[in-house]
Amino acid sequence: MTTALSLRNIEKSFGVFKALGPVDLDLNPNERLGIIGPNGAGKTTLINCITGVLKPDNGTVHFMGKDISHLLPHERARLGIARSFQIPRPFIGMSVLENLLVPLDYKHNVHNKEQRALELLQSVGLHNRAQDPSGSLSQLELRKLELARALASDPKVLIADEAMAGLSDTEIDEVLDILMRLNESGVAIIMIEHIMHAVMRFSQRVVCFDTGQLIAAGTANEIANNEIVQKVYFGE
Ligand code: ADP
Repeated sequence: MTTALSLRNIEKSFGVFKALGPVDLDLNPNERLGIIGPNGAGKTTLINCITGVLKPDNGTVHFMGKDISHLLPHERARLGIARSFQIPRPFIGMSVLENLLVPLDYKHNVHNKEQRALELLQSVGLHNRAQDPSGSLSQLELRKLELARALASDPKVLIADEAMAGLSDTEIDEVLDILMRLNESGVAIIMIEHIMHAVMRFSQRVVCFDTGQLIAAGTANEIANNEIVQKVYFGE
């Protein structure tokens, strides 16, 4: 089976400081993968190596069987790797709908674009807010807009970077439902999340990083009961 993503021997240093690796990691098509680990573990560095924001010192990234190691971030995005950011940054002067027209591919004509934007808003449950100023959105609605924005490129892989930070439990459930529906529609999802119960509930497989190394991988249950993982979070 062709993997959605295959990372081999990825390493990244900042000066003399080794932030990451070497890391090998695969993501299957349609998989839900959770990435956990304490602050400074290298999670963001890893994601940046996948999206092309950072160039690793070593190693390769394959997407759907194709070597994308040499591609720029926008080229990887166009192939189908999307990332939603922890802190949504909408264009404040624009309506919710207009915010989505911006990232929509220029191959759509204006009429299609608007229809596509409305579909995307519908898929995250934000269509009733389409004409409202984005500055009027709640935290939860901003997260939804951020997810819709990430989906504008029709990704095969969505990296959800702390999409639930600061939300209440019922709001977390709502975001998880959206991500689950997206996954059911064929999008593989990498969830980087500090909210343990959310990432454990969502993920079919969880990997834990510490000091730039992948230290454990398994089902949510296995990882929750893994002694090495517990040491990382709770000490000896
Ligand atoms: P995480 O996302 O798991 O919190 P990061 O990938 O952000 O971890 O960081 C891993 C390590 O690399 C940290 O020690 C961090 O200080 C360091 N680091 C990250 N980016 C840079 C950078 N641009 N320059 C120097 N050090 C960095």
